[in-house]
Amino acid sequence: MFNVTPIPAFNDNYIWALTVPNSQAVAVVDPGDADVVNRYLKDNNLQLTAILVTHHHDDHTGGVNQLHLEHAAEVYGPANSPFEGISHKLVNDDQIELMGQLLTIHAVPGHTLDHISYYLANTTPQLFCGDTLFLAGCGRLFEGSPEQMHEAMEYFKSLPDTTEVYCTHEYSLANLAFAAAVEPTNPQITAAIERCTQQREAGLPTLPSTIATEKQINPFLRYNETTVKQSAEQFAHSPLSSEIAIFASLRQWKNQF
Ligand SMILES: [Zn+2]
Repeated sequence: MFNVTPIPAFNDNYIWALTVPNSQAVAVVDPGDADVVNRYLKDNNLQLTAILVTHHHDDHTGGVNQLHLEHAAEVYGPANSPFEGISHKLVNDDQIELMGQLLTIHAVPGHTLDHISYYLANTTPQLFCGDTLFLAGCGRLFEGSPEQMHEAMEYFKSLPDTTEVYCTHEYSLANLAFAAAVEPTNPQITAAIERCTQQREAGLPTLPSTIATEKQINPFLRYNETTVKQSAEQFAHSPLSSEIAIFASLRQWKNQF
């Protein structure tokens, strides 16, 4: 498994830095800002060898070209991305080896059409999922459909419960406020709000989450739960007969929450 360190960027982004023991090599996920990465490399005496891109948005790719030029780091990313700085183009089910660790690529369109995730199968599995799955939330549908995002959610649910979830944004408390509106009587959500509030007050990230936790608190993975279905129907003012319809109603509700 990787040692994973957050490099905070902008208001609420984390650029995840991946290292393995006894090596100066480091890979970064979604470096929107080259300066904070360069400072991190200097402070920790590390050498940037690889960049992983999940999707084309500027706050995920803004630092890629500069870092690639300065460090000759390999750039991995989606083959169908409108972002032009990718040297290793990846498609669904591809595998890449990084510092002796084997990562599996899964296409998870929805937030954008080029969105991919990186998954490391291990005793402690690790998932780097960009703006697709958040703690207690999911990304907005800028380019894809509810069908596509629902399929991505089904993939995340299929991963082992112990999987660590590294998403890009510190949106946890806002997401949990919405989760509590959907399921006011879910004690796991109440506990997560307490835990995340304490972490934020201490200046700590609330991430990573785990798939086990997300299955308990994330409304966008819980469309099979009766309470979630009822809340989504109440928002839609109509009965919802499919998981996708429930998911779409939740996403629409969250957009205006
Ligand atoms: Zn994005």
